[in-house]
Amino acid sequence: MSAPIVRTVAELRTVVAGWRRTGASVAVVPTMGALHEGHLSLVHSALQTADRVIVTLFVNPKQFNSAADLAAYPRTENEDAAKLAPLGAHVLYVPEAAEMYPDGFATTVSVSGVSDGLCGAFRPGHFDGVATVVAKLFLQTGADFAFFGEKDFQQLHVVKRMVRDLDIPIAVVPCPTVREADGLALSSRNARLSPTERAIAPKLASILVETAERLANGSPVTSTLAEARAAVLSAGYREVEYLELRGEADLQPIASIDRPARLIVAAWLGETRLIDNLRMPWSSLLADQMPRACQELAAGTASLIAVRLP
Ligand code: AMP
Repeated sequence: MSAPIVRTVAELRTVVAGWRRTGASVAVVPTMGALHEGHLSLVHSALQTADRVIVTLFVNPKQFNSAADLAAYPRTENEDAAKLAPLGAHVLYVPEAAEMYPDGFATTVSVSGVSDGLCGAFRPGHFDGVATVVAKLFLQTGADFAFFGEKDFQQLHVVKRMVRDLDIPIAVVPCPTVREADGLALSSRNARLSPTERAIAPKLASILVETAERLANGSPVTSTLAEARAAVLSAGYREVEYLELRGEADLQPIASIDRPARLIVAAWLGETRLIDNLRMPWSSLLADQMPRACQELAAGTASLIAVRLP
């Protein structure tokens, strides 16, 4: 059965208040619609965690830095509702732009630090738009849990930072990236790829995997990343905005793998911008470090072993 569609904040608050009277916990899954299995995986996780799940469909104009990109963004409310129906989400919240940003709207939530660099450098204002709409969705739903994909890894960091800084009482739950069988991360933008581009697209993920393996085997970070960027271009991508190694916990640039880390990339394939990221195989690195450290200890060349755990 299709979940009821709610379009106003007032109606949403009434529904949630009813749930709260029964003691139910509430989760929210913010999306811009054009749902695919990646989004649905968040909804599955939310349904396993909370008694009631709100899925939001809102193409947020404030997070687009190109009017053409906003106009081209797919809007597929009926199809989205049909995809969600078998899952059992409890409400679809589908506000109009005027409901979210009524006349006179003048507030921006801006998260510094984690919003700088990476996508923040190439999409000015994007994360202000994300933080503003996500803050509103958290306050409108009053949810206990919010589910976000690791696919948008910097966004996840921005949201977590905002929640901590503003003391918003919500637990942000990260969910793994869902991929096609050939490794391409699912994205609403994949639909824009021509057949030729679609054949090239998964090379981005395979280059990340190869690069992670090389780094884990001790390849120097700077030259290995430069080679990875060149490999993305050779594969047929038009431009690499960034391909970097960043700390898993703080998103800071790192020059050696001395802590949990992620490879993170944005690149243009024709007119489509794709992003992806991959967690470095930290546990295998630890397994490599341990015997070496123990040998050093036995040989008397080390008196103290420090292995930073993730
Ligand atoms: P979007 O509709 O693109 O704004 O995405 C809504 C949510 O779905 C965000 O938390 C994304 O990180 C998440 N998401 C998008 N693609 C994927 C994917 N391939 N796997 C897991 N989560 C995803």
